[in-house]
Amino acid sequence: MFTGLYCHCLYLEIMKTYDFIVIGAGVVGCAIARELSSHGSVLVLERRERPGMETSRYNSGVIHSGIHLPPSFLKARLAREGSALVREFCQQFNVPNREVGMHIVVTAQDCFTQVGQLKQFTKLLQRAREQDIRIEVKSGRAIRTVEPSVRCLLGVHVPGVRIIDQCAFLAALIDDMGNSSTTIDCCMEVTAIEPVNSGLVVTAGSSRFRASLVINAAGLYADQVARLADVQFQHYYYRGEYYEIEPSAGITANGLVYPLPPRHSKGLGIHLTPTTDGRILLGPNTKRVSGPDDYRSDKTPPEKFLSAVRAFLPSLTTADISWAFSGIRPKTTDESIESDFVIEKHPELPLINLIGIESPGLTASLAVGNYVSQQLS
Ligand SMILES: Cc1cc2nc3c(=O)[nH]c(=O)nc-3n(C[C@H](O)[C@H](O)[C@H](O)COP(=O)(O)OP(=O)(O)OC[C@H]3O[C@@H](n4cnc5c(N)ncnc54)[C@H](O)[C@@H]3O)c2cc1C
Repeated sequence: MFTGLYCHCLYLEIMKTYDFIVIGAGVVGCAIARELSSHGSVLVLERRERPGMETSRYNSGVIHSGIHLPPSFLKARLAREGSALVREFCQQFNVPNREVGMHIVVTAQDCFTQVGQLKQFTKLLQRAREQDIRIEVKSGRAIRTVEPSVRCLLGVHVPGVRIIDQCAFLAALIDDMGNSSTTIDCCMEVTAIEPVNSGLVVTAGSSRFRASLVINAAGLYADQVARLADVQFQHYYYRGEYYEIEPSAGITANGLVYPLPPRHSKGLGIHLTPTTDGRILLGPNTKRVSGPDDYRSDKTPPEKFLSAVRAFLPSLTTADISWAFSGIRPKTTDESIESDFVIEKHPELPLINLIGIESPGLTASLAVGNYVSQQLS
């Protein structure tokens, strides 16, 4: 009896206690931690050796308008709110960013050979109208004065879209937490979550921590982490691969150039993305893969990328592009084309799970931080 009591006291002494534990130091976990730091002490547990080593690094760095999203989706609302917040944040903290705008182009192939593809155009116009997104419909000739490498009949211009340096953005988020009572512990993989009196105990490595509220922002692995608390979610993994256009190709991309979203595809279609450091990316595609770490198997050959963009970028050849990188999206459905974010408070446990945080999670990150902190009451 005495020994048991002694052990229990010792156990309480060595277990560090926080108001909040955030699992995962990607852009979403860090945005949440930054927001929660004004409400109490925060511990961020990250399994990799540094923050932002997964999807938060392997993306296009686009701050989206929401035009591609169903207006009723949570992610559409968070993208609209988040894009304004990210713009202000980048300006305040000198994160490299540029408002480049987006053209979504309609090609001759869309009009004459792909039955039904033009419906995608009217859908975009409708989504822009419903979400109050500023757009302009332009002729192919007008688009060519801005994007001389592109061939199209007409298109939609979305002026407010921005590109950012996503790694600098994450670094600035972490820097901004520097003065708060927030700790980020790396090389700490969370392996257990157990309920205790009015809180949860989280095991990571050989350590155990206690918190009044745990937020699962483990990205691709968030479904697995949720299962540690007996919550059943299932991710489906869709890899997005990128090639990079060689400067010698003579292609310019002053802004983002997207095709009409291919019907029946879970992606937006392979497109051109300029980066803040002066490169031009071609991609991403949307390829179903079996696991959250399958970045490389069965890479899509360059010819497939070329055939996807030939209708609006006819001069590109395989010699003009080289492999760049890939990232993986966690989707919440394998059946329908659209997959929404799930941000769900557990009905009994002090746990919030963030599931299916695929694109536009970078755009939405700061709004997700606000959304989670609003769940505290
Ligand atoms: C190809 C591609 C292109 C994209 N392009 C854009 C874009 O242009 N604009 C946009 O807005 N969004 C884009 N996105 C989406 C965006 O990148 C993601 O939504 C965002 O990065 C998700 O951030 P996260 O913090 O949720 O996940 P992550 O960055 O994956 O972070 C989760 C973290 O949790 C950690 N972790 C996992 N399991 C555990 C555990 N058990 N214990 C501790 N830590 C754990 C991981 O190591 C990781 O660091 C794109 C995504 C992809 C794949």
